[in-house]
Amino acid sequence: MADKSVIVIGGGIAGLSAGCYGQMNGYRTQIFEMHDHAGGLCTSWRRNSYTINGSIHLLVGSSPGSNIYRIWEELGAIQGRRIVYFEKYLRFEGTDGRTFILYTNIDRLEEHMMELAREDYKLIKEFIKGVRIFTRLKMPIEKAPELYRPIDGLKLLLKILPYAGVIRKWVRISMRDFATHFKNPLLNEVFSSIWFPEVPMLFILIMLGLTHQKIAGYPVGGSLAFSQAIERRYLDLGGEFHYHSRVSKILVENNHAVAIKLEDGSEHRADFVISAADGYTTIFDMLDGKYVNKTIRSYYKELPIFPPLIHVALGVNHSFEGMPSSATGLNFPLEEPVTIAGKELKRLGVRIHNFDPTLAPSGKTFIRIIIPSDYAYWKSLREDLNRYRAEKEQIADQMIAVLDRRFPGLARLVEMRDVATPITYYHYTGNWQGSHEGWLLTPQTWRLRMKKTLPGLDNFYMAGQWIEPGGGLPPAAISGRNVIQILCKRDKKPFVTTVP
Ligand SMILES: Cc1cc2nc3c(=O)[nH]c(=O)nc-3n(C[C@H](O)[C@H](O)[C@H](O)COP(=O)(O)OP(=O)(O)OC[C@H]3O[C@@H](n4cnc5c(N)ncnc54)[C@H](O)[C@@H]3O)c2cc1C
Repeated sequence: MADKSVIVIGGGIAGLSAGCYGQMNGYRTQIFEMHDHAGGLCTSWRRNSYTINGSIHLLVGSSPGSNIYRIWEELGAIQGRRIVYFEKYLRFEGTDGRTFILYTNIDRLEEHMMELAREDYKLIKEFIKGVRIFTRLKMPIEKAPELYRPIDGLKLLLKILPYAGVIRKWVRISMRDFATHFKNPLLNEVFSSIWFPEVPMLFILIMLGLTHQKIAGYPVGGSLAFSQAIERRYLDLGGEFHYHSRVSKILVENNHAVAIKLEDGSEHRADFVISAADGYTTIFDMLDGKYVNKTIRSYYKELPIFPPLIHVALGVNHSFEGMPSSATGLNFPLEEPVTIAGKELKRLGVRIHNFDPTLAPSGKTFIRIIIPSDYAYWKSLREDLNRYRAEKEQIADQMIAVLDRRFPGLARLVEMRDVATPITYYHYTGNWQGSHEGWLLTPQTWRLRMKKTLPGLDNFYMAGQWIEPGGGLPPAAISGRNVIQILCKRDKKPFVTTVP
């Protein structure tokens, strides 16, 4: 039993997690990753003397008050890491010239909202009450839902029951719909412009509850440093990581996954195969769509995904010292709308990383702008490499010009510029349509419990953001852990963990 082998496809957070817990539990694991380093979407890259933080705004479970903290500890990701906790979630400048601050402290936020919009007294009270309620809810994560016995189900039900009404209420209303209830034009503008408008209000209530409790913060060092800590933990546990190893097929005998075939033609056998790579590629390419049912097909036909992004990174020879920072940055209206990748942009969100000195040389700052975009647009553009490159350059020019109006003089201080597109995300991580976080959280996807197995295929499991609607780092790590719990149960041995 101790010698059973596991192949993990993909070395993102989910794959690394599956690898680490596999090693902790006596499996011989190997991770096959197509890229030249681990991390997947949770990555950073270097340009000149800057480090571009490619993922984390907020890490949920960054302090011991959260039950997810223990998982980051087991994965060796959090030890010794300095975490920044923000007083502000967002600074929002309205078109009417007024400013709204989404404070992370609920009392401060309530006071501020009341000062701004007394006419929305009742709605603000309701919103704040919602945030407070969700500071008390802790979802159990210790055990894989697939292993729940009736008693576990009952315990969960009893835990959730007091919140059932309030969850039902807030999950049904999207940010966009909630916004329409405000009489105050600024608050209306805030709630209809931030995050993704289809996302249920429940999401923002939970996020504010977490930031209020200071259990979601930003890990200094950025995304790749975070992933690399887990990669180190995996190697220390004796795991084998294969870089530059793109898996093209999962080989099946008698409906059992038995091996993988790499692009170079080599085959590697194992007792179990876990795919922590993109869901669409796994199901429809690596397995040729042979192990699907109507439900799975409907996911990939009908469910909305987190849109792919245009990611503009700038290195600026300015410290922005003393400028208050916030978790998601500054959102401001443009004097004149600009057209970016075929879409009109009237506002801009910018995150000035003056709180992480590791990302830029002393006295300088890394800045990023994220713009949701359209995969089909970029796919077609990419067919003509010159046009594709020219469009990226144009976007960088436009963003610098816009920022220069908001921060006069900034343009001449820009010394690094880098634009990643949905094609970049697809190219480096294989994610379907370049999505940056998998299935979008909506009232419909919130309730979905996707299976970690495929119908008719044994010895095979999936982990990662494509089986966890809403995506993100904690679900990725938890799903990798869950799959190993399932294997342990199958092999009739206790699931064990260690903390380095
Ligand atoms: C700009 C941005 C901001 C974000 N902000 C946050 C945040 O603040 N908080 C948060 O929690 N989450 C955030 N996320 C989301 C989070 O980064 C992802 O949800 C998470 O990293 C997904 O992990 P994963 O392991 O499931 O998938 P991935 O990271 O996609 O990992 C899959 C891995 O599989 C590899 N792979 C794919 N195909 C193959 C193949 N054929 N052979 C071998 N290997 C293959 C890929 O190279 C990749 O390494 C953000 C993401 C982005 C892009």
